[in-house]
Amino acid sequence: MQNHVEFSILKNAIDYAAENSPFYKKIFSENNINTDKITSMEDFQKLPFSDKYDLRDAYPLGLQAVPDEDVVRIHSSSGTTGNPVIIPYTREDVEDWATMFARCYEFAGVTKRDRIQITPGYGLWTAGIGFQAGCEKLGAMAIPIGPGNTEKQIQMMIDLKSTVLCSTSSYALLLAEEIVNRGLKDKIALKRGIIGSERWGEKMRQRISDGLGIDLFDIYGLTEVYGPGIAIDCEKHEGMHYWNDYMYFEIIDPKTGEVLPDGEFGELVITTLRKTAAPLIRYRTHDLTRIIPNRCSCGREYPMIDRISGRTDDMIKVKGVNIYPSQIEEVLNYVDGTSSEYQVIIERIDGKDRMTLKVETIKDADKQRVMEEVLQMFKSKIGIRIHCVCVNIGELPRSEKKTRRIFDYRD
Ligand code: ZN
Repeated sequence: MQNHVEFSILKNAIDYAAENSPFYKKIFSENNINTDKITSMEDFQKLPFSDKYDLRDAYPLGLQAVPDEDVVRIHSSSGTTGNPVIIPYTREDVEDWATMFARCYEFAGVTKRDRIQITPGYGLWTAGIGFQAGCEKLGAMAIPIGPGNTEKQIQMMIDLKSTVLCSTSSYALLLAEEIVNRGLKDKIALKRGIIGSERWGEKMRQRISDGLGIDLFDIYGLTEVYGPGIAIDCEKHEGMHYWNDYMYFEIIDPKTGEVLPDGEFGELVITTLRKTAAPLIRYRTHDLTRIIPNRCSCGREYPMIDRISGRTDDMIKVKGVNIYPSQIEEVLNYVDGTSSEYQVIIERIDGKDRMTLKVETIKDADKQRVMEEVLQMFKSKIGIRIHCVCVNIGELPRSEKKTRRIFDYRD
């Protein structure tokens, strides 16, 4: 089994959290858990989950499991509602994260000779600084430009001959379209794109990859567990290798909490094995994926998870049917003449759900045909009738961070 971990390693992680983390001391005592009695994998799987909501309640520094003098940095995950989650890091945590991130670059074929243009933001959140630390650990040249200012991005990309682009998928698409529109593809030296922070469909991959002429790698991570850089796909693109020497991954049924066997899709739950300042035991990521049961053909031993297919909270229910954004992307993938971009508008009219899918059509595509195919494909793949509106390419918004695609106006 690929995802195997020695129980003693997990036990050490539990003991460390129970002894040092005020957050876990509380959780374990509230649930009457005596960690001495956890002696098997079955016991481990009965431990309560931690969730973002619990971490928020620990604001500001309730997660801190080391003395103040050992903390060298904090990061914070953006919360749209309520308190943000503050994650403290020791020097060792920062080092471990950089080591994992450097490994990500290596798996993506990046070397010391590369020039890495880092477009994710720097600051309280973990993105930019993670890409930067990994780059420096590897020994490549970091171009820490941060987000925005597309004019300057493209200029730097050309003048400095950046070979690697680190970006969100939305921003990579925006850059790709700009570069194609301005006829600059021959002037750039990019070879690879390392793309993180949101789920993206096949069509979007194609457009970015073709537009920039690069090989794309999915990088995964979340602030609560170091940040980006805890998993990435290799040159074989068979899944994202993850670092099981630093973390233990489980996949659970998001409804029942039951652990699912390797190969089945569900919610990713992470236990950190070495994190000192803010250890996490059975942390629910709300990201949907599966553990890939077989070894990658690259021969590396690190196990793999599949691309993130959505979030448990991304699901929309229309006319009684559960729909994930990845299914909408799949529909668009089957219809020629559409771009990767779409918007979903859901309203309630006369007591009934009405869903409108706005799609972009590429130049010269017959809008009537695209519309009919989208409607038909949606009915056959997802099972409900919807409305479809075609707009010209470029009309739907692109953003530098996450692009909002679902607009639910039902109360
Ligand atoms: Zn591999």
